[in-house]
Amino acid sequence: MRIYNSATHKKEEFQPIESGKVRMYVCGPTVYDNIHIGNARTFISFDVIRRWLIASGYEVTFAQNLTDVDDKIINRANEQGRTAAEVATEFSDKFIGVMRAANVLDPDVRPRATKEIGPMIAMIKTLIEQGHAYAADNGDVYFAVRSDPNYGQVSGRNIDDLMVGARIEENEDKNDPLDFALWKAAKPGEPSWPSPWGEGRPGWHTECAAMVHRYLGTPIDIHGGGSDLAFPHHENECAQATCAWHQGFSNTWMHTGMLLVDGEKMSKSLGNFFTLAEVLEQHSAAALRLLMLQTSYRSPLDFSWERLEGAENSLTRIAGTVENLRWAANHATADADEAASEAFADKAAETRAAFKECMDDDFNTAGAMGAVFGFVTECNQYLEQAGDAADKAAALAAADTLAELLDTFGIELPEPKVELPLGLLGVAAGLVAYTGDDVDEAAAKILEARAEARAAKNWDLADAIRDQLKDLGLTIEDTAAGTRIKSL
Ligand SMILES: [Zn+2]
Repeated sequence: MRIYNSATHKKEEFQPIESGKVRMYVCGPTVYDNIHIGNARTFISFDVIRRWLIASGYEVTFAQNLTDVDDKIINRANEQGRTAAEVATEFSDKFIGVMRAANVLDPDVRPRATKEIGPMIAMIKTLIEQGHAYAADNGDVYFAVRSDPNYGQVSGRNIDDLMVGARIEENEDKNDPLDFALWKAAKPGEPSWPSPWGEGRPGWHTECAAMVHRYLGTPIDIHGGGSDLAFPHHENECAQATCAWHQGFSNTWMHTGMLLVDGEKMSKSLGNFFTLAEVLEQHSAAALRLLMLQTSYRSPLDFSWERLEGAENSLTRIAGTVENLRWAANHATADADEAASEAFADKAAETRAAFKECMDDDFNTAGAMGAVFGFVTECNQYLEQAGDAADKAAALAAADTLAELLDTFGIELPEPKVELPLGLLGVAAGLVAYTGDDVDEAAAKILEARAEARAAKNWDLADAIRDQLKDLGLTIEDTAAGTRIKSL
């Protein structure tokens, strides 16, 4: 497996620190608002990366923080006349809910900054003792960037370039404009915790470094986030961790590309700003994931409602193929052609291999999705050619292949609406006599009743049955292997 390391700008052969195990950390949100679909792209990308590592046999430990104390939270709380803790709790809960709605797996560890103050203070003390940090007269503690000879290793920045335009703000008490706050002295009315430097709160970069160290141990295998986090956030996390503990911080750095809306940067002022919750009110998580994964995680992703609609249609088409494969497998009436069955079974194996090859090459989801689409076409061709003589094993294996590969992407196919034929019997009591609860049997009874009505030229009854089905979103379809009721 090869992964692009954004710190070295190269694809590298992935070698976990501990054989068979992967420890990864992805920076979580600052919980002051609903997350937007640009954030969602990052979290969905790393969810798929994690799922693929698991599918590849690794035991993955995945940690993600919640930044629940920050200027943005405090400002939002002041605007709304609430406490910072109330704002943070509301948006932490909303974040967790919407991630689950998007079918993103829960992290193994989800530390919250406000519950990790002790380990952060310990790290800051270590940095001060070693001459990498200093407490200023105003109660802030700063990291001395020039004390770290490797500063710039994550983002490729160099100190001289950074000096251009760097300045010390009015409320700061730094020795050098490049230095950043590890600890911020409390202003009146702000949430704060006691520390050796007085009441205050941790800086944002400090929390991730301390949590990675506490929950995963350093160095870790993969550290990820949006590309906007590479500098200064990841650079500063890395500087603190490597200076405090004298070992690497993360072997691989991964950053996701930007999300554009209709080719433009998403912004509230342009009116093209969408939260994840808004999108999921109108479309399935599966369609959103399908849209996103058609672009690989490092490239800019173009979101549009048309593309999302298109993804929804693609999903329905794939689900229809899976349903057709299963139906053909269970209703074949003639003997399958052996050579054609074998060739079709080989296609499934080839698709799995192509999918794996793409995913092992820096999680090329676009290529892997291409393999899935290609296979859908092949399945449709096979079904057409096989007619009522589909090979049961090969058709079922093909259906499973499609479902499993999409499951690796966290994409669940729409299920056929199994309750509908029974619902129809309730609605259409009198049209069809059936009192059992077996869906296939019910469907067969309905079709049988319709066929009998047609044979007896009782068109009113035949049409009534068809119309009742239609009202329930079902269609009658004649296939080579017989007539069936379809829900997709
Ligand atoms: Zn972070």
